[in-house]
Amino acid sequence: MRFKVSRDQIPWHPTVDNSKCIGCKTCFEFCSHGTYIWDEAVGKPEVKNPNSCVVGCSSCAPQCPAEAIKFPPLSILRQYI
Ligand code: SF4
Ligand code: SF4
Repeated sequence: MRFKVSRDQIPWHPTVDNSKCIGCKTCFEFCSHGTYIWDEAVGKPEVKNPNSCVVGCSSCAPQCPAEAIKFPPLSILRQYI
């Protein structure tokens, strides 16, 4: 997919609801793009590198057993294509 703007101008990345997260590490281990880091102090993931998330990918969200990972609706991407 080609975009009209640079990656850092496209608001596409996961958001983790820490109140739902059970600290299972699945998202951190699943994503091979380094979007998440693991915060040992709190035992939860942090979306440290949001721009490394592949635009349009949301495949880590259904892996989460706590449904704690959300993405924007795909329709927001239309304006950037
Ligand atoms: S959506 Fe894909 S690229 Fe983005 S954080 Fe999840 S697994 Fe990684
Ligand atoms: S997969 Fe869900 S519950 Fe597990 S660490 Fe990631 S956000 Fe938390």
